[in-house]
Amino acid sequence: MYKTILVPVDISEIELTRLVIPYVETLARLEDSHIHFVTVMPSSPYYAAFGLAIAAVPDKQEAKDAANDALSRVITEFKIPVNRTKTHIVTGAPKDQILKLADSIDADLIVIGSHRPSVKTYVLGSNASAIVSYARCPVLVVR
Ligand code: ADP
Repeated sequence: MYKTILVPVDISEIELTRLVIPYVETLARLEDSHIHFVTVMPSSPYYAAFGLAIAAVPDKQEAKDAANDALSRVITEFKIPVNRTKTHIVTGAPKDQILKLADSIDADLIVIGSHRPSVKTYVLGSNASAIVSYARCPVLVVR
């Protein structure tokens, strides 16, 4: 049922990722699942939107390598055999890229961590809420 599980990881919110670890480990053991971890990096227009000079934009490959290192470090906290995991570093809007990857790997489940509902976000953050609304597979939101 959960052969392919997608776990989006915001590398700047490690505590949020730690929330999902026991759930992902338990689900992965049930069916010897393949776990795909994805980190989405902002694209250059994102930097431009914040008025940053092009020179201030980190080198694309360097930024991708740094994200990959950070994601690999996070993954070591999951007790899952390395040969059952795959990492993806993609660029764009997190919610769009996560939904796109879920389709392309034919995910059976997406597991995300979410901050507690707050007055500010009302119910869920914008990524969590879009993933829950538009994913074509079940979504587990861990709080
Ligand atoms: P909230 O916690 O307020 O609901 P979000 O809507 O951003 O906030 O949802 C958080 C979850 O979304 C994270 O736990 C992670 O699974 C996913 N996520 C957010 N940003 C990224 C990102 N850049 N790359 C991968 N996953 C992300």
